[in-house]
Amino acid sequence: MAVLVFAELENGKVGRNALEVLGGARSVADKLKMEVLCCVLDGDGGQRTGELGQAGADRVIVVKVATANPSDPESYLAALAETCTGIRPVLIMFAGTPVGRQLAPRVAHRLSYGIVTDCLSIRVADDGREILLTRPIYGGKVHAVFAAREGQVITVRPRALRPLEHPYRADPQVDYVEATPRGGQPRTRVVEVHKETESGVKLEEAKVVVAGGRGIGGPEPFAMLEELAGLLGGAVGGSRAAVDAGWLPATRQIGLTGKIVSPDLYVAVAISGSSQHMAGVANSRVIVGINIDPEAPIFHSAHLGVVEDYREFVPVLIEKIKSAKAC
Ligand SMILES: Cc1cc2nc3c(=O)[nH]c(=O)nc-3n(C[C@H](O)[C@H](O)[C@H](O)COP(=O)(O)OP(=O)(O)OC[C@H]3O[C@@H](n4cnc5c(N)ncnc54)[C@H](O)[C@@H]3O)c2cc1C
Repeated sequence: MAVLVFAELENGKVGRNALEVLGGARSVADKLKMEVLCCVLDGDGGQRTGELGQAGADRVIVVKVATANPSDPESYLAALAETCTGIRPVLIMFAGTPVGRQLAPRVAHRLSYGIVTDCLSIRVADDGREILLTRPIYGGKVHAVFAAREGQVITVRPRALRPLEHPYRADPQVDYVEATPRGGQPRTRVVEVHKETESGVKLEEAKVVVAGGRGIGGPEPFAMLEELAGLLGGAVGGSRAAVDAGWLPATRQIGLTGKIVSPDLYVAVAISGSSQHMAGVANSRVIVGINIDPEAPIFHSAHLGVVEDYREFVPVLIEKIKSAKAC
């Protein structure tokens, strides 16, 4: 009996997403007294087995598929499903990335497993018989807990789980599987890949995030937020309203249908604090809300609240930080 993780590499490296899913798998497997198996595609994956062991895998299964293109799940779906069929893990975990979100339901269908997507947390019930999976429903207004016994596929929302704090093992057992998938031609293929062009601190990895909402009033004031974020070594994001208004690119949207951030400090400037927005910032250590309206919902979630026009407050804050830095 095992928990199986599909480790998707990021530019050939074991990235944060794989580390988080392996960390979550490890804690569940330890409680269930099971092994963590990690499937990875050959090529770059075959070079990374030690890192995957350190991240929590007992055994790494390197799947060799002649035609595999890492960004085209259809090219190795059958091989992955075939490998899982041979093992029948209790739980199969994918990161909730575009690739993971495409693979998970297809693998679940092929194995006749259940599926819960977008999990925010995963734990074993006190009686040790069920795995409890929490995910948002009703547009993030409520969190539902699903109980799974076995035969479950899940996707995990990026930044919801934490990587292991200490290396698990440097020498996992490594098996090579030469997959001979059956089935006809893939029905889709990736024609082109557009990479996000981001400069500066990456939003998902930033320790400080300064975000602006509709109340900012236009694209120009975002320069003020950029200055504040720059002084704090952080990144700028925004609410969907700000993105829909064209003040920020879609890659900067934070929330249920945007990016999930988990900074030490999250500063929400002229953002009301809708449940869909807060779904993307819930893991922040300290949330500061700056809003002119004392009744704004942001103040229910914020650790610190500033009831003030941001045009008055933010320039003063910037000057204070500058003079503190100059000392
Ligand atoms: C399925 C679904 C998914 C969604 N996904 C997301 C998502 O991923 N991310 C997201 O953000 N939203 C999302 N939304 C939209 C969400 O419901 C809200 O509409 C949106 O978050 C509102 O953005 P806002 O807070 O910037 O704007 P508003 O709600 O209009 O709030 C603007 C705030 O600015 C304040 N303000 C105005 N002027 C000033 C000033 N001068 N100084 C200080 N404060 C001022 C106001 O008091 C107000 O609180 C989603 C909605 C749905 C239905």
